[in-house]
Amino acid sequence: MSKLKNKVAVITGANSGIGLATAKLYLKEGAKVVLSGRRQEALDEVSKDLEGDFITVLADASKPEDNKRLISEATAHYGNIDILFLNAGIAPVSPATDITEEHYNEIFNINVKSPMLTVKEALPSLNDGGSILFTSSIVHKKGFDGLGVYSASKGAIRAYSRVLTSELRSRGIRVNSIAPGPIETPIYSKMGLPQDVVEDMGKGFASQVPLGRFGKSEEVANAALFLASDEGSYVNGAELEIDGGISQI
Ligand code: NAP
Repeated sequence: MSKLKNKVAVITGANSGIGLATAKLYLKEGAKVVLSGRRQEALDEVSKDLEGDFITVLADASKPEDNKRLISEATAHYGNIDILFLNAGIAPVSPATDITEEHYNEIFNINVKSPMLTVKEALPSLNDGGSILFTSSIVHKKGFDGLGVYSASKGAIRAYSRVLTSELRSRGIRVNSIAPGPIETPIYSKMGLPQDVVEDMGKGFASQVPLGRFGKSEEVANAALFLASDEGSYVNGAELEIDGGISQI
């Protein structure tokens, strides 16, 4: 119950899915948690069920000034940060023939530019020995039709995490990524696809997973706890697949 006692954690995309499950687990383990999201009503709604020491910060990851303010509000409230979990992401679908500049910019702004700039803003107030986590995805290892730009964005952030691992070596800050497989979260209903297509896609994914099912946000949160806590003290620069084995076969 105290793997993160008194640690300060900032989590983006914390009002839903993987980010929310991780916020709950971190709070249970004694962390002070800054939950960030782009919709105040969603932050207010999830706050009702949370227990522990937390604040919410409204910040749109697609806006660099919001990424900056997220860090300044977090540090104004709790002081230096120990764990920075860059998790917010979107996964709209577009086949290669239909990709537009708007589609590319939206995905790369949120999935790549935002985590990079948020890290930059946070580094002066990130404690030495702290931990940075990115939510990447298995999609940069395995091709799924329609997810070209999304997959490229996740590959980009994985590549960036390797460089950051090296650049932060003198400060003992560990940098790791979590690569979820298909996880049951609201992200699928936000892809811009009809419900029956989402359901068929879901069945298709599940049938490819050796464990034969979607994962749960809580199963990803367990990995986020392991990597951010002392239990993961010698894990650095790694990407941990939480995917029921789909990326390994
Ligand atoms: P989710 O429930 O939709 O959570 C995504 C979170 O990111 C939500 O809180 C969402 O806010 C937030 N977000 C999106 N755009 C934002 C923006 N511009 N500013 C601030 N917050 C923003 O989906 P999830 O599955 O937990 O996704 C979390 C991460 O896991 C993402 O990076 C995703 O790419 C990755 N991932 C998920 C899966 C999967 O199968 N679920 C697989 C591989 C990787 P709203 O609620 O306002 O949309």
